[in-house]
Amino acid sequence: MADKVRTQRTRELEFGGLLGALLLPVLLPCTVLHLLLACRSEEASVFSLPSPVPSLAELWIPGSLLLLLAWCGLQAALYLLPLGQVTEGMPLRDGTRLSYRINGFQAFAITSVLVVAGVASGVLRLSVVYDGCLGLAVAAAILSFVLALLLYARSLCVPESALAPGGNSGKPVYDFFIGHELNPRIGSFDLKYFCELRPGLIGWLLINLAMLLKEWELRGSPSLAMILVNAFQLLYVVDALWHEEAVLTTMDIVNDGFGFMLAFGDLAWVPFTYSLQAHFLVGHPQELAPATAAGIILLNALGYFIFRSANSQKNTFRRNPNDPKVAALETIPTATGRQLLVSGWWGLVRHPNYLGDLIMALAWSLPCGLAHLLPYFYVIYFTVLLIHREARDEHQCRRKYGSAWNEYCKRVPYRIFPYVY
Ligand code: NDP
Repeated sequence: MADKVRTQRTRELEFGGLLGALLLPVLLPCTVLHLLLACRSEEASVFSLPSPVPSLAELWIPGSLLLLLAWCGLQAALYLLPLGQVTEGMPLRDGTRLSYRINGFQAFAITSVLVVAGVASGVLRLSVVYDGCLGLAVAAAILSFVLALLLYARSLCVPESALAPGGNSGKPVYDFFIGHELNPRIGSFDLKYFCELRPGLIGWLLINLAMLLKEWELRGSPSLAMILVNAFQLLYVVDALWHEEAVLTTMDIVNDGFGFMLAFGDLAWVPFTYSLQAHFLVGHPQELAPATAAGIILLNALGYFIFRSANSQKNTFRRNPNDPKVAALETIPTATGRQLLVSGWWGLVRHPNYLGDLIMALAWSLPCGLAHLLPYFYVIYFTVLLIHREARDEHQCRRKYGSAWNEYCKRVPYRIFPYVY
């Protein structure tokens, strides 16, 4: 049956089409390197070119690739542990569903115990990650390229039914970039699902901790700003791992193939650019007055409250529309049999979860002060990403729900920011 379900040719190309697919695999790694170099310079300017230009010895650290492979190997071993429950993903086009093991939180907990034990015993000198960050980022970029190439080669041998609806253009460069195969698996090991939340996301926290330890080494104690950045982002990652099952309904899993975009995003972009604030603070210490710190904590709490409540409301509703927590909410019926929420968080704007996420992003940058743009890179990039993601989601929802979606847009006219956008 599965082999008879064909994946149609992808006609609408995203991310700038062929040109984007050619340029982004070069531009994205260069951006990561540029940001890391800027972080280390005194001016920390996003707009000037790095000086001095890094030496080859800084860019290529022998053993860094092996270290990353060992890290991914550890996370893969934890993923395979028979801990946590096994759940089913969304129905595929042929009606079948794939099984996924939900044990990201357990993997994080075991990794934390190993890291704390390693650091406390002196076996693990995590602060060296600060000095080797450039080399590690280069290794992560190489790893992503190799992985994406292997994934593309593999996708040429799978039945057409296994291809991603958005990554079957027939143009190799584009399909390599966007992802040709939807759910590449080795046995029950799902490569895309594994990469989405584990090595990169937990790796991001590890880099943050390394920056905190480096600051401790340099100044005798971690600063309040560094503690806040670490704590906020720890909460965010732990939340994502605790609610790991929610990733199964995202467009990354349901719609996007696994190619360079997600491989690089998960393994290189997230750990090395999302940790920029902590990285920045090592070389650019900031004094935070208690009142300022309290204000930033409140802002993060507000963002988290909106983000979590909105996501939980939709997830609860999607799991069981009759759940007492959501049963009283107003809805619009659609021709697919599913309903759309038009009250509660999803009646405020069409993506309240993005709103909360962006408020948190701002709270992560504010501890770095207002003198530099660099620590605000994440807020700016993330705003662009979520506006683009919202447009992609909107496009898919309109295709899925037709006039019901138009009705929803009429009832809830703002996309992310109430009364603004
Ligand atoms: P969303 O969780 O926003 O889900 C969008 C889907 O929700 C739609 O496709 C539709 O799917 C359903 N939906 C939309 N409107 C309604 C409604 N009114 N009622 C019921 N269902 C509705 O998708 P994302 O994957 O983009 O985001 C998930 C989370 O991840 C967000 O909090 C986001 O901020 C975060 N995120 C973080 C990133 C990062 O790098 N830090 C990157 C990307 C996302 P259907 O109807 O099929 O259920």
